[in-house]
Amino acid sequence: MSSVAITDIGSLVTNDSDLGDGTLGIRTNAAIVVVDGKIAWIGDSKSVGVTDNRISVAGKTVIPGFVDSHAHLVFAGDRSEEFSARMSGESYSAGGIKTTVAATRAASDETLRANTAGLVSELRRSGVTTFESKSGYALDVENEARTLRIAKEFTDETTFLGAHVVPAEFANRADDYVDLVVGKMLQAAKSHAKWIDVFCDKGAFDVDQARAVLRAGVAAGLQPRIHANQLADIGAVKLAVELDCASADHLTHLSDKDIELLSGSKTVATLLPGAEFSTKSEYPDARRLFAAGATVAIATDCNPGSSFTTSMAFCMAIAVRDMGFTPEQALLAATIGGAKALRREDVGALRVGMRADFVVLNAPSYIHLSYRPGVDLVDSTWVGGKTVYQR
Ligand SMILES: [Zn+2]
Repeated sequence: MSSVAITDIGSLVTNDSDLGDGTLGIRTNAAIVVVDGKIAWIGDSKSVGVTDNRISVAGKTVIPGFVDSHAHLVFAGDRSEEFSARMSGESYSAGGIKTTVAATRAASDETLRANTAGLVSELRRSGVTTFESKSGYALDVENEARTLRIAKEFTDETTFLGAHVVPAEFANRADDYVDLVVGKMLQAAKSHAKWIDVFCDKGAFDVDQARAVLRAGVAAGLQPRIHANQLADIGAVKLAVELDCASADHLTHLSDKDIELLSGSKTVATLLPGAEFSTKSEYPDARRLFAAGATVAIATDCNPGSSFTTSMAFCMAIAVRDMGFTPEQALLAATIGGAKALRREDVGALRVGMRADFVVLNAPSYIHLSYRPGVDLVDSTWVGGKTVYQR
């Protein structure tokens, strides 16, 4: 057994209203005690018992670690020219993924591993303690399995997204490609993946194809999640709810009916502000989701084509500025919302028995995360009671 006390926390966000003020359960002058990687005690800083180690954060803010439930981290190549062209007036379409596919297939394991490690270290620096990573930049049997195997070296939350886009060699033969995805590709990928995902949208896969992919994944022991309504509303949200997907992600185009379906389900509405930002798309109004009682998450969607950011704070700032979140709703969505989108109960809040995943902020309040956009406020990031990043 090893124990450590984090003391002199000026403002502690627990996400548990039983532990402090408001929905965020905020305590002042607080301390937490971590034993063997889990939260063992939360209380007043002056009442901390004896521990092996004691670390004072001198009045800083502590929040639960961010849970980034949507990212695409294993890839090679650079698409900054495409971004530049888009910012010069061209519109985003799903086809740009093909550039990354060619580079990823050609890259060595070492290159892919080094690229991923670089992004993971950025996530740590931005306060992310749990993250998901999808395949979908290889689109052939061998390389989809290879990129998932590499992703699994970094996280247990790996997602098979063979149905990201139809690769060039299957042009005009999307159904044949779906057969490959649900057949040989799924068999090769499934031992490296926890989740199955599909890009169900205009220019990607239609609802029937998406249903076939998700059902095959579930039959193979994976759990479903979905890319829905980024480019158009073709019925992906209805499918998400029909199949009890853990999360429907993007939701840029959202009908009242979709909102009603989501709020009556266990499917989390995951918004990806970085995607609208980087594609100059219109932002969805999250107030409609909150008013209906839906569970909402915010994730980075870190990917080279449409949202190349690892900063949860940046995504939260956009959500607050442009999507109608309050700072409180943004923090909940980026922590416990993300945990729910991954159906995790051990992360996303700070309560006795949960994994000791938290972030120390150089700020007097969590509100600074969206109040000071673009400013790096993370002092240290802790996973399982150990520092994974220290400024
Ligand atoms: Zn995505």
